[in-house]
Amino acid sequence: MSLTERDKKHIWHPLKQHQTHPNSLGIVKAKGCILTDEHGNEYIDAISSWYTCMFGHCNDYIINKVHAQMQQLDQIMFSDFTHPAAVELSEKLINILPDNQSKIFFNDNGSTAVESAIKMALQYYFNKEDKRIDFIAFENGFHGDTFGAMSTSGLSVYNGPFEDFLIDVQRIPTPNKTNHDTILKQLQEIVSRKNVAAFVYEPLLQGAAGMKIHDSEGLNKILQFCKENNIITIADEVMTGFGKTGKNFASDHIDTKPDIICLSKALTGGMVPMAITSCTQKIYDAFLSNDIAKGYFHCHTYSANPIGCAASIASIDLLTSDEIQTNIQKISKEHQKFSEHIKNHPKVKSTRQLGVVFALDLDTNMERYGTLRDLLLASFMKEGVFLRPLGNTIYIQPPYVISSEELNKIYTTIEKVLDTL
Ligand SMILES: *Cc1c(COP(=O)(O)O)cnc(C)c1O
Repeated sequence: MSLTERDKKHIWHPLKQHQTHPNSLGIVKAKGCILTDEHGNEYIDAISSWYTCMFGHCNDYIINKVHAQMQQLDQIMFSDFTHPAAVELSEKLINILPDNQSKIFFNDNGSTAVESAIKMALQYYFNKEDKRIDFIAFENGFHGDTFGAMSTSGLSVYNGPFEDFLIDVQRIPTPNKTNHDTILKQLQEIVSRKNVAAFVYEPLLQGAAGMKIHDSEGLNKILQFCKENNIITIADEVMTGFGKTGKNFASDHIDTKPDIICLSKALTGGMVPMAITSCTQKIYDAFLSNDIAKGYFHCHTYSANPIGCAASIASIDLLTSDEIQTNIQKISKEHQKFSEHIKNHPKVKSTRQLGVVFALDLDTNMERYGTLRDLLLASFMKEGVFLRPLGNTIYIQPPYVISSEELNKIYTTIEKVLDTL
C-alpha cells in the first residue's frame, strides 16, 4: 500500500477538507531544493516548505551542528537551567536583530511566538496597573492559529466557530502611497475610545494575505503614532525574518523599530520547530519586581530545546555568510527580470517583488481553496515544481541556495502553466 493510502487510515491533516481532498502525496526525501515523492518523482521546492528551509533541505552544515548537539545535550528544563546553545543563540540573535532588542524569550512555533507577545503586552500594562486590553492589527493579516494570534489575524474566513471567543481587535488598512492621513485619523479615533495595549503587524510583507507588500513610509508613520501613544509595537517577522526581504529582518527597512519581534519558520532552517519572542529592555523591566506574580509565568515544556538552538545557531551562521548574502541579492535580481517579462502576460494582472519573494496576481477571481487553485497546483506539480497558490496569487519564495537552472525552471513552469489557462 502506498503512503497516500496508509495515511488515510489514521491521519488528520491541517488546512484540509478531507471529504473533498482525501489524498496527500508521500514525500520520502528532500535535499537542497529537491523534494522526492514515494514514486521517485522530483519537485523543486519553490516556496521552501512554507518559508522554512531557506538554506536548502537537509543542509549538511545544519545537520552536523545538530548531530554534535544531540550527542552532548538533548533536552533540559529551561525554567531552572540554562545551556550553551541557548546562550550562544541569544548572543547571535541580539547581534543581528534591530539595535533596540535586548531579551530573548523561547517558544515552539510562530503562533505561540505571537501569543507570547500578546500576553507580554497585556501583562506589561497589567503590571503597571494601566488597564489596556485592546489591540490594533491590519486587515488581512495572519498571525497564527492559537486564540490570541487568531484574534489579531484579519483573514477570518475560516474562524467562524471561534469568533465569540476572540480578543477585541481594531482593524486598520495597510498603508499605500495615498492613505496615510486616513489611517492616522482612524488611529486617533480608535485611541479616543479604546485603551490599546499593542499594535500587531507583519512588517512590509503580508504572507498569508497573498504576499502583499505595503508602504514602508506609511508603516513608519503608524509606528510613530504608536510610540507617541504608548502602544506597544509587535512585529510579526515569523515569515519575513532571516533575509526574505533582502535584509535580515523586514524591520531593518523601517526607521521606527518594534518593541517586540516574533520569529520562527526560517529560524532553524526548517530542521526542527522553534520560535522566539524578543523584546526591548523596557518591556522586560516591567516584569521585574519583588512580587513573584509580576514575573512572566508563560512556559512551554520544550522551551529553548538544545537541538532547536543548535539548528538556529547553524542557520544564523549560514544567513550571515557572504555566500548566502550574495545569493539573496542574486535571486532578487533574477526575480526583477522575470517580473519585467511576465507582467505582460495576458493572464497576469500585476506583479510585485521584495527580496527573494516574488508574487503575481492572476487576472481571474479564485477561491482560496477552490478548483482553479487545485488545478494550478496539480499543473505545477506535473511539471516538477511545488508552488502553492494563495487565492489568485502565485508566489515564489525559493531557498537561498537555489541554482540558476532551478530558478529558471520555476519561471518557465509558471509561464507554461499560465499559457494553458
Ligand atoms: C506562519 C506564520 C505564523 C504562524 O506560525 P506557525 O508556526 O504556523 O504557528 C504567524 N505569523 C506569520 C506572519 C506567519 O507567516
